[in-house]
Amino acid sequence: MKNIFLNGTIYILNRQIPCVDALAVEDGKIVFAGVSRDAKKLKQRGDRVFDLKNHTVIPGLVDSHVHFVYWAETRSRLDLENARSTAEVQKKVAAFAKRLAEGEWLFGNNFNKNLWPAGEQPDKRILDTVCPDRPVILASKDVHTLWLNSAALAAVGITSSTSDPPGGKIVRYSGSQEPTGYLLETACRLVNEYLEKNQKKLDMEKVVLAAQKEAWKQGVTGIHALPDPGFEKSFPLLERLTREEKLQLRILMYIPEKRLDWAIELGLQSGFGNEFFKVGGVKIFVDGALGSQTALMFEPYEGNSSTGIEVSSLSHLENQLGKAAKANLACAVHAIGDKSVFYALEAFGKTLPIHDGRLRQRIEHVQLIRNEEIPKFKKYKVAASMQPSHAPSDRYIADQHWGRRCRNAYPWRSLLKSGALLVFGSDAPVEPLQPLAGIYSAVCRKKPGEKESWYPSQAISVGEAIRAYTVAPAVLSCDEHKIGTLSPGKLADFVILSEDPFKISPERLSSLEVLATAVGGEIVYAQKATSWGCD
Ligand SMILES: [Zn+2]
Repeated sequence: MKNIFLNGTIYILNRQIPCVDALAVEDGKIVFAGVSRDAKKLKQRGDRVFDLKNHTVIPGLVDSHVHFVYWAETRSRLDLENARSTAEVQKKVAAFAKRLAEGEWLFGNNFNKNLWPAGEQPDKRILDTVCPDRPVILASKDVHTLWLNSAALAAVGITSSTSDPPGGKIVRYSGSQEPTGYLLETACRLVNEYLEKNQKKLDMEKVVLAAQKEAWKQGVTGIHALPDPGFEKSFPLLERLTREEKLQLRILMYIPEKRLDWAIELGLQSGFGNEFFKVGGVKIFVDGALGSQTALMFEPYEGNSSTGIEVSSLSHLENQLGKAAKANLACAVHAIGDKSVFYALEAFGKTLPIHDGRLRQRIEHVQLIRNEEIPKFKKYKVAASMQPSHAPSDRYIADQHWGRRCRNAYPWRSLLKSGALLVFGSDAPVEPLQPLAGIYSAVCRKKPGEKESWYPSQAISVGEAIRAYTVAPAVLSCDEHKIGTLSPGKLADFVILSEDPFKISPERLSSLEVLATAVGGEIVYAQKATSWGCD
C-alpha cells in the first residue's frame, strides 16, 4: 500500500533534482519523486492519495542538540520564572490547571519571591483561591524552598503537629502552629519523600509522548539527544518507548562522560541501534557557559581578569577522545569559549588517526572561535554543532563580556566557507525546540521585530540553514543514505509548510508555520484547519 502525495512544491535537497511536485511512499520509504501526472499512474487499489494543494514540502527537520527528556519534563511543569507578584502566580496556576486532567497534581518551578512587591510571601491560601481541588507543589528558582496549597499539605500529611526537621522549617502563621504552605530547606524532603514513595510524580511516559507531539508540531522528525540530568532513567525510557513503537522520532542518543567506561565495557559503539534509536557517542565538557562567564577564554572577559573555567584539561580530553575512539565511540565535546574550542580541535586532531574519519565527531556550541581554528573543522573532520537561536538571545551579554571578539562569535558563514559540516539544533530547554525560529535566527541574526542584525556578515541563506537541519545532521548520524533529503530510497520524513521559505522575504520567515509532519510517509501531525484530501 502506497501513500501518494500530489501537487506540491517539494524540495528534495538533492543537488541533481532540487524540486519535484509529487512523492510516492511505500513501507516508509520514498519510491517515487517526480511529476504528479506520473505519480497518479502509480496508484493501485488500497493506495491513499493526498493533495498537497501547492504547499511547500522540505525534508523532516532534525534538532541536533536537545536534552529531550529534560525538555519534556520542563514543558509539562508550570514555569513561574517571570511571575512578578503572587497575583501573577495565581493567574498562571489557574490557567495551567485547566490543561490538566481531573485530580492530576500540578507541579511548578522557578517562583522567585525576590521579584515580588515587598511583603508578599508564599501562602497556601493564595493557591487555594485559584486551585482548591488538586494538590499544587511549586519549587522556588533556587530549589531550596517549596510552596504548597492546602490539598498538597493534606496529601503529604503536613499538619500543625508536624515538627520542623533538623535543618529545615515549616513556616507557620504567627501565633499558631498552622503551616502556611511554605517549606524551607530540609522541610522540602517531607514532600519529596512522599512523592517518591507514592509515585506522585510526572508520568514520564505521558510527558515524553506529549513532547514528541510538540516536536512533530514544530516539524521535527529526528533529534540528537544530548544527555539529560537523569540520563540513567531517560536512556531506557526512550529505548523502551521506541521499541513499543510509541515514539516515532529518529533519536541519536549521547551518553555522559561518566558512563564512558561503562559503555566501553558493554561494547556499546556509535551506530548501534536501528532506524529510530541509535547510539551517537559520548558527551564531554571542556568548559562552562557565557552567561555565567565560565566559558574558557584565551583572553580575560571584558572588564575583569577571569578567563573562565577549565572543566577538562587538554590532556584529559585527548585521553578520553582516544579511549572512546579505540572503542568505536564518537564524541560530542561541549566547547563555548575560544580556548575550549581550541582544546577540542587539538584533541580531535590528535586522535583522528585512530579512526581515520570513520567516527562522526562534533563540537557543541562553538560560540567563539579564533580565525586560525576555523579551517581545522574540515581538516580534522569535526562537525560544528550550533544553535542559531542562541545568537540573538546572547548578543547583548556576548557584546558585554567578549567585546570586539564577537566578530568571531557564532561564525556560521566563516565555518561554511571553510567547508566545515554545520549542524543546527536548539539546546532545548535552554531555547525553544523550534527549528523554524532557528532558521530565522540563522538568516537574520536578530529576533523578530528587532531592527539591527548582529554581525550580519556571519548570516547564512535559507537553503544553508535548512541543510543544517536536514542534510548535515544525517551525515553526522551516519544516516546520509537514509534521511536528510527526499530522494527515492530514503525514509519519507518530511514537513509541509505554510509558505515557501525559499521565496518569501527573510522577515516573513518568522511567521512560517508547519502545516503537517510525516514520519515514514505517515502524517503524524496536521494542523487542524487543513485537510489533505486523503481518499
Ligand atoms: Zn545542551
